[in-house]
Amino acid sequence: MQPKTRITVAMGDGIGPEIMRETLRVLDAAGAALEPEFIEVGEAEYRAGYTSGIRPEAWDSLRRTGVLLKAPITTPLGGGYKSLNVTLRKTLGLYANVRPSRSLHPAVATRHPKLDVVIIRENEEDLYAGIEHQQTPDVVQCLKLVSRSGCERIVRYAFEYARHHGRHRVTCMTKDNIMKLTDGLFHRVFQEIGKEYPDLEQDHQIIDIGTARLADTPERYDVVVTMNLYGDIISDVVAQIAGSVGLAGSANVGDHGALFEAIHGSAPDIAGKNIANPSGLLEAAVLMLVHLGQQEVAAKVHNAWLCALEDGQHTADIYTPGTSQALLSTSDFATAVIERLGRLPQQLEAMQVAPAAPAPAATSQPAFKRPVAEQQLVGVDVFLRWDGFDPNELGQQLETLTGHRLKLKLITNRGVKVYPNGHAETFCTDHWRCRFVAATARVGGSQPEFTPVPFADILALLHRLVDFNLYVIKTEHLYLMDGQRAFSLGQGE
Ligand code: NAD
Repeated sequence: MQPKTRITVAMGDGIGPEIMRETLRVLDAAGAALEPEFIEVGEAEYRAGYTSGIRPEAWDSLRRTGVLLKAPITTPLGGGYKSLNVTLRKTLGLYANVRPSRSLHPAVATRHPKLDVVIIRENEEDLYAGIEHQQTPDVVQCLKLVSRSGCERIVRYAFEYARHHGRHRVTCMTKDNIMKLTDGLFHRVFQEIGKEYPDLEQDHQIIDIGTARLADTPERYDVVVTMNLYGDIISDVVAQIAGSVGLAGSANVGDHGALFEAIHGSAPDIAGKNIANPSGLLEAAVLMLVHLGQQEVAAKVHNAWLCALEDGQHTADIYTPGTSQALLSTSDFATAVIERLGRLPQQLEAMQVAPAAPAPAATSQPAFKRPVAEQQLVGVDVFLRWDGFDPNELGQQLETLTGHRLKLKLITNRGVKVYPNGHAETFCTDHWRCRFVAATARVGGSQPEFTPVPFADILALLHRLVDFNLYVIKTEHLYLMDGQRAFSLGQGE
């Protein structure tokens, strides 16, 4: 008999305990060699004062097992609570979020019978760094952080995944026509690393039209790799048009562990009624079994699940008169799956004993090397709170203030140039970005030139601004990296 693998299990909130109980019952009946350790996470822990929804002891189990099967949890609304999911992903370094969706036509109604798409979403960076600040009474900010190392890991993972699973095409989606530095980096890394995978077709689409096409003709897509926020959205879109978000599971994978969960939430509206669909969590458990090398049990569970769906054994969320044969509770659906263990579906494509998932060790991530570049300071963006309305008034005041080396280049409001030569129609908030560069620099045009600036000049400028009772909120330094401009130009600069 195969030795049992320890896993950590979190029962979750809302419908979590119901669907987890039934999922574990199916796994047990299928002969999965698992030894669960249960931890408490979620709403009760938040209420007990653990602002990230998990108490310190629970980390010990996670470190011991390296695998978490987690039911959805409820994040209480209101201040102070951080999303447990984001905390788990980032703390455990689970950088890849893998969400496969496949239509179950004709067993489950869908307009896209040929859909078979895997979304691979970057899981740690982007706007989910969760660094937000209110800067003025009118303006709040969320920092979008993207690292080359983060892009390299997720892009390589996506190519390795595609190769490992016999997929033929990887599509990258970003919005780099607007966010040239952040999204541009992701796209550039995709092109660079793509050269190592000439056996795979590759293309890039802008996320807006890409999402529209994905929702319209998903059968044209295979593996999609994208950034955190876009991936969060498009994976729900794809799961929903495949049949229901209630059917999809996801894997969060990193070098030190993996977390498996349904993609839906804790559904408090139907909690305790024994009517929730346990399929998403069951499919997450199938991904977990593959990850643990228990491919045969994974295929047994998945195929029995397909048989139950094919036989019209449906929970309320996917029940369709005509197609469905029986309207089942959560526990009866699990029983229907257990009764079909060992059978193969007739119409739906059975899961073969799958190749092992690309455990991160198998994705041959090269050893991390911190990028090196010559970094030269050439100016500063000073952000001011200013309650006036006429940018010319602020601009003229700042022109009189600057010292002999730093000169006001322009002022923008929400990224649009408003001084000099702004447009009267531009709406202005109380948040002004004032760009100062060396007096000799020429910015803009096809070949901008910059002159290095000592940091002391920036400090002197800030002192002068404060002495003039201007309200400095923050600064961003302007750098050249290896001689290349490493900041965006203002719109209209
Ligand atoms: P939700 O996914 O819980 O529910 C959306 C709708 O789908 C509801 O009508 C619900 O009844 C239905 N639904 C969801 N899962 C179902 C299932 N298995 N079977 C049948 N119907 C199902 O989304 P929400 O209402 O926006 O969020 C509720 C809570 O879940 C929030 O506190 C949110 O923070 C949390 N959440 C947790 C996770 C997670 O733990 N991974 C993910 C998303 C949301």
